[in-house]
Amino acid sequence: MQVAVKLSGVSRHFEEVRAVDEVDLEIAEGEFFAMLGPSGSGKTTCLRMIAGFDHPSSGEISLFGQSVVGVPPYRRNVNTVFQDYALFPHLDVAANVAYGLMIRGVDKATRMRQAEEALSLVRLSGYGKRKPSQLSGGQRQRVALARALVNKPRILLLDEPLGALDLKLREQMQEELKELQRSLGITFVFVTHDQGEALSMADRIAIFNLGKLVQTGTPTEIYHHPRNLFVADFVGSSNILPASLASKLNGRESPASLRPEAIRIVGEGGHPATVLGQSFLGATRRLTVEMDGTRLNVLLPNQVDTPPVGAEIRIAWDNESLHPLEEV
Ligand code: ATP
Repeated sequence: MQVAVKLSGVSRHFEEVRAVDEVDLEIAEGEFFAMLGPSGSGKTTCLRMIAGFDHPSSGEISLFGQSVVGVPPYRRNVNTVFQDYALFPHLDVAANVAYGLMIRGVDKATRMRQAEEALSLVRLSGYGKRKPSQLSGGQRQRVALARALVNKPRILLLDEPLGALDLKLREQMQEELKELQRSLGITFVFVTHDQGEALSMADRIAIFNLGKLVQTGTPTEIYHHPRNLFVADFVGSSNILPASLASKLNGRESPASLRPEAIRIVGEGGHPATVLGQSFLGATRRLTVEMDGTRLNVLLPNQVDTPPVGAEIRIAWDNESLHPLEEV
């Protein structure tokens, strides 16, 4: 599999701020790749450098094996979909989509045909004559996508493209984006601060914190084997056991993560714990318990009889569910 995007020792400093700090990263052709991290962790800066809107202070970026140092954005075979869509309000949808082709000198008949093809990819056939103001948020989002796809990029960069949509529409667009990526086979690089979105959509995820790439892996790897405290805390809903408690349980002098769904209530054996609270979540029920001074969340299927608040119970888990974490 060819490497579509490669970052080697890439840093970007804005005076004393290390927005991106020594990042090494490879994205394979055809991957749906998510960059995930809290606000200010350097994701957008990374994406802008891949697009060519910004440049590394040091390190190198190559696309399909070719260094892109000094190559302007329009010659990179890359297109970007921005969070605010950046549509031209005075142009109709077809003209918005065809804009990049017009700049490149493509004749009008070809432009209109290709714009219509791109609009049909995003299920907006027949909307060409509308103005952006006559569309819903989700439809504008699709126009922005069509405008990027019309240029037939090999890599599509998406910066929080669903951030402006409400939850239901967001979930629908997640499915659509995934399907579109699968059918086109284009490499998608997707920036988000929403861990659920990254886990559900991406083939692989890179987790950023404070400008550094902390961990790269498939959603399953990241979810089940978080490398350090930050990842365990940021992705999913792990219980974090302090080093003092974890060392009693597994003999290692480091904190550990334990997924709420890995904990079961047992009749005997296990570890004593007290039920502090419980909440009904629909298909599951969440108990909060205290064990050796540490609060833990326990996720139980709803059919299971749950002990009342204040009950003294015993809890257990399989040893492999307890993952030691690096502290950094
Ligand atoms: P968000 O999710 O909020 O977009 P992000 O992870 O994409 O965050 P970046 O936008 O890449 O983060 O910013 C990383 C850091 O670099 C932040 O501390 C930000 O303030 C700083 N930064 C980004 N662009 C500039 C700039 N042009 N000048 C100065 N500092 C900048």
